[in-house]
Amino acid sequence: MSDIRNLRSEISALAAEAERAACVLSSKRSELARLEAACGHEWGPVSTRMKEIREECVDWSAPPERHGVHIDYKTTFRTVQVPEHTRTCVRCGRMEGTTETKAETRRIPAFRD
Ligand SMILES: [Zn+2]
Repeated sequence: MSDIRNLRSEISALAAEAERAACVLSSKRSELARLEAACGHEWGPVSTRMKEIREECVDWSAPPERHGVHIDYKTTFRTVQVPEHTRTCVRCGRMEGTTETKAETRRIPAFRD
């Protein structure tokens, strides 16, 4: 019986400790977000590496399942490699990553041949 009481007491103490730690964690995350927002980031070089992601593909050859007005198409997953770009702020160490890219348009002189 004392084992059960000890265990309950231990669980209770750990739960209180976890609650305090969650409160401190939340406070520290807010402080970090505030400091990062005030940094004015100076980004270092972009590094790119390949990352595996799972991509869902609709199988158009399979008959769809109908649930009333809702139609479910059969899907499969495949693993594809996509480039992931990361950059790190040289001042505060914040790291950002993305797999998205955007087109860059440049204007160049249009000499007549
Ligand atoms: Zn920064």
